[in-house]
Amino acid sequence: MLDQSNYQYFDPHIETLPREQIAKLQESRVLQLIPYVYQRSPLVRELWSKAGITPDDIQSMDDFKAKVPFMDKDTIRAYRDQHDDPFGGLTCATAPHLKGVGFTSGTTGDPTPVPRSERHISTESTLREAWQIGARPGDTICDMLFTFRDGLSLDRWMEAGFITAPVQHLPSEIPTFIEVSRQLRPTVLFMLSTPMIMALEQYQKETDDDLTEALSSYKGVIFGGEALNPHFRQLVESWGLEIFILSSLGDIATTMECKAHDGLHTWEDLALVEHLDPVTNLPVADGERGELVVTSLSDDVAPLIRYRTDDLISFTTKPCSCGRTHGRLTPLGRIGDEMIVQGKSILPVDILPLVSEFPETSSGLFQLIRPQREVDVLKLRIGFDPGSLTGELNALRARLLDKLSTELQIPLSIDMISNEELIKNSPPNKIPRVTKT
Ligand SMILES: [Zn+2]
Repeated sequence: MLDQSNYQYFDPHIETLPREQIAKLQESRVLQLIPYVYQRSPLVRELWSKAGITPDDIQSMDDFKAKVPFMDKDTIRAYRDQHDDPFGGLTCATAPHLKGVGFTSGTTGDPTPVPRSERHISTESTLREAWQIGARPGDTICDMLFTFRDGLSLDRWMEAGFITAPVQHLPSEIPTFIEVSRQLRPTVLFMLSTPMIMALEQYQKETDDDLTEALSSYKGVIFGGEALNPHFRQLVESWGLEIFILSSLGDIATTMECKAHDGLHTWEDLALVEHLDPVTNLPVADGERGELVVTSLSDDVAPLIRYRTDDLISFTTKPCSCGRTHGRLTPLGRIGDEMIVQGKSILPVDILPLVSEFPETSSGLFQLIRPQREVDVLKLRIGFDPGSLTGELNALRARLLDKLSTELQIPLSIDMISNEELIKNSPPNKIPRVTKT
């Protein structure tokens, strides 16, 4: 095997491929994929017949982007329910090629089963990501993964010569995680979430253990699941850890920050990334807000074709200082969460850093009241910690109102509610950021 241990990139050729070669690779993969998927996936045939096209109509990437119909979670679920097909008409291969099933996280409904082959596509992306954090063959990776789409497989790390140490993603498992970290000295943690950071903070308060010492072997910790509250970022950094934000690349692979921390690198050899206006479906300019639409370029089991993710992102193909050439995205939230306040787009991600600046509201618990998408005044419900309150609640409300109005430049009204009350009225383990009432 080629000794890559001194290389900066896991796959130097692919990760630094010039943009025009990425485009050529994508076009050839798309043209190869189309007849394959059309012959095998009943959902694709149904969608294409409704749109009045066949593979003969697609001779170039331009044809693909102009003619191929979109699919989304609802299309797949509807096919699943009508045809009693757990995979929603997406599968192009069965056993023995079909090797396992993972599940989507179910953010916007019930978790969807995702079939996989022997080598899951996210293996490719996560190896590139762990490598650039600094993991090298012989290093240990602490795998503390919450529910994910690849069926919790650990074999992906072994492929690169990493040693896997799995720990359950549960707040009650923090003592195990600390012990594993001290004993095995892992290089990378995959991955932290808000509940686990809160559990680490609690553990530190209760035991007075030195987390900086216990976690000193990590070259990086990967965080995902939702937007990272700046308050929790500071806390994790105070333990001497470098955080790398990771997200899903539309249920196809992962996408993660590099050491430049300037957006999450997509993998354009694995997924065709389109960045479209959710209303007009036209491409959005580099750096602007648009919907992430993805096509799997190397999945022969159940490829997604022009899959609308409902994720709002900004996206750029400008060069990154790390030398990789693949485009970078910044996750902004769900389309269903976006509000237009007097013409201005507002998402929970715009509110979070402002609210968490105040000690009384540093947990960052809040809700946007969204009776409809467009409103004249943004109504917010903000949670506070009564134990941190030093003066009148109305004075805190006034400070928040002043800060948010100045920063966001929109009309606002704010209701204050204790954190406890806000959590009590929410589903378990999740604060709905957007609510109708
Ligand atoms: Zn980079």
